[in-house]
Amino acid sequence: MRIDKLLANMGYGSRKEVKDLLKKGNVRCDDQVVKSPQTHVDPDKSIITVFGETVEYKEVVYLMMNKPPGYVSATEDQRDLTVVDLLEPEDAVLDPFPVGRLDKDTEGLLLITNDGKLAHQLLSPKKYVGKTYYASIDGRVTQEDIEVFQKGVILDDGYVTQPAELKILTRGEMSEIELTITEGKFHQVKRMFESVGKRVTYLKRISMGSLKLDPALQPGEYRDLTEKELDYLQ
Ligand code: URA
Repeated sequence: MRIDKLLANMGYGSRKEVKDLLKKGNVRCDDQVVKSPQTHVDPDKSIITVFGETVEYKEVVYLMMNKPPGYVSATEDQRDLTVVDLLEPEDAVLDPFPVGRLDKDTEGLLLITNDGKLAHQLLSPKKYVGKTYYASIDGRVTQEDIEVFQKGVILDDGYVTQPAELKILTRGEMSEIELTITEGKFHQVKRMFESVGKRVTYLKRISMGSLKLDPALQPGEYRDLTEKELDYLQ
């Protein structure tokens, strides 16, 4: 694999930062300085060092799944099938786990990886990564709801949510909306609508930060993230 990809995967920085490390002559493969990011190396056969320290290579995987309803966002469950059960054996063997949780009945964008560092960064409330959901709502969503969500909603346990952006797509007794939140409290979207007297009847996550659900992925399908998508997340 390409040396820049390998080092970026192992947490030595973004592709740009890794390119810089290489350019400055800080990377060696079997004692030869490697400067070109396009150099192909075999981490099983060669010793790669950065600043003289050996890189412990572990294959990392970053998957985008369109989570189907009926599966839990976990690696194991006593009763239900999990999103990991949908993976091909060659991916499952790398011990990936879902980044954050979607409810069993929620669909849409789910990131699955074995990169604990990235998962931790994305879940950190300090990062304020916006997560956008499409939802069908039983009830008429109003301009007042937009303002209340913008200010912060008091949930059933007294927690006041961070400002959230609500867009009404269709108005009526059944409304369609898009909501962007920056937190991930338990059942947050459903509870925000409950607090204004409405019920979510369908929920799908469509984006996380700049990462958008690939419309070509059918429920239950997944694919590797592209390098560009991975850069969005780092
Ligand atoms: N909010 C919810 O209520 N459920 C989800 O699955 C995600 C966000």
